[in-house]
Amino acid sequence: MRDHNFLIENNTKHMWQPMAHPAEAMANPPKIITGAEGVRITDVHGATVIDAVGGLWNANLGYSCQPIKDAIAEQLQVLPYYSTFRGSVPGPAIELAAELREWFAPDGLTRAFFTSGGSDSIDTALKFARQYHKIRGEHGRAKFISFKKGYHGTHWGGASINGNQNFRHNYEPLLPGCIHIPAPYPYRNPFGETDPERLAELIAAILEDEIAFNGADTIAAFIMEPILGAGGVIPPHPSLMGKIREICTRNGILLIADEIITAFGRTGAWTGSRLWGVQPDLLCFAKAITNSYFPFGGVMISERLVDTFEKSDSKAANIGTGYTYSGHPVGAAAALATLAETKRLNVVENAAARGTQLFEGAQALMAKHDLIGDVRGGHGLMIGIESVADRATKAPAAADKMAVVAETVYEAGVMIRVSGPNIILSPPLVISAEDCDTILAALDSGFAAASATA
Ligand code: PMP
Repeated sequence: MRDHNFLIENNTKHMWQPMAHPAEAMANPPKIITGAEGVRITDVHGATVIDAVGGLWNANLGYSCQPIKDAIAEQLQVLPYYSTFRGSVPGPAIELAAELREWFAPDGLTRAFFTSGGSDSIDTALKFARQYHKIRGEHGRAKFISFKKGYHGTHWGGASINGNQNFRHNYEPLLPGCIHIPAPYPYRNPFGETDPERLAELIAAILEDEIAFNGADTIAAFIMEPILGAGGVIPPHPSLMGKIREICTRNGILLIADEIITAFGRTGAWTGSRLWGVQPDLLCFAKAITNSYFPFGGVMISERLVDTFEKSDSKAANIGTGYTYSGHPVGAAAALATLAETKRLNVVENAAARGTQLFEGAQALMAKHDLIGDVRGGHGLMIGIESVADRATKAPAAADKMAVVAETVYEAGVMIRVSGPNIILSPPLVISAEDCDTILAALDSGFAAASATA
């Protein structure tokens, strides 16, 4: 391995980063991470900090989960790869599908389809939704509805249903037939509605209106994150997903749950759909399925689709999509070990308790710092802190202020994720109460430092 000076000298010289302007990244090079242990990461300069980002919402069990590392090493010796395309299947993929069927039984999802990550899973679910309607002879059902501020990955399908201009504008035109409705975001919405329950009613009414306007027979699916993540952590009112489920069912529209972040315990429930008491038709997962140690994802499929596909003798039910690494044996082995550890550690309980601690702590920071305009959370380890230049106008905080917050917090021993004016906290689900106290103290110093700058 090259020495650290090589890394520092070559940082950003030969590589573009996702979600970053190349020139900006060169001017402000990213932190070079060289090691990790427990819930902490170490940078090239030897600083060790708490990872309040949890990798990218995916290192749910932290970085020292030996059973997963062992499972990966063993599987590499036995069978490092084989394909899942028709005619063959690696053993661990079969085992994982059986295990997932048990995990997702309460959600009514009984078949798995494997992918290499979150964006793959989303585009697969969109395709399955269209295909389901085609098998049933409803060829006109091609459109998708999603939330503004939603994030569904970066492939063409995902980009087209994404609700954030940053991920759309430079790539337009995107897929036609993608309809966006307002997010359940009480802090900012077109109606000035601050009551989450009334906002949920309005959004349900808008959805009904859009369906009527387009014609239900043109719509394939509604897709949503049970709690919007990358959009700044926006939990809807508990009634909203149920209302959407009912509207979809009544109109023959499929409901896709994008649980790339929320599956496997992050919300303090095993799935986000279960948190809201809803059974989706398709559920996308990735990230925490391998605790981030191997790129892997999938789609869980409900009985309704299973019946339609498996009982069809038409060519329309042929699955014409999939990836070289679908069901990768090393990923599947990593996933099996991750699920076993996730269950053994019962991480949902800690996610709920530490989530409450961080949420309440962040609310206390809001009482202290005018820079904080809104704090969102209350459902496990997903907390959003939105910064404003002015509480009355809600003008977003300037990027340089956010940079001061992030840098000061880092110096105080914590890595956070800043996305526009939002700070997103999504630490590993195994984080301790003491480490959460450190995160809150670091944020306190960060907001104090940013407030003190002109
Ligand atoms: N959907 C959601 C809700 C996500 O948060 C993400 C990734 N952050 C994706 C989809 C895309 O996943 P990936 O980056 O693994 O392609």
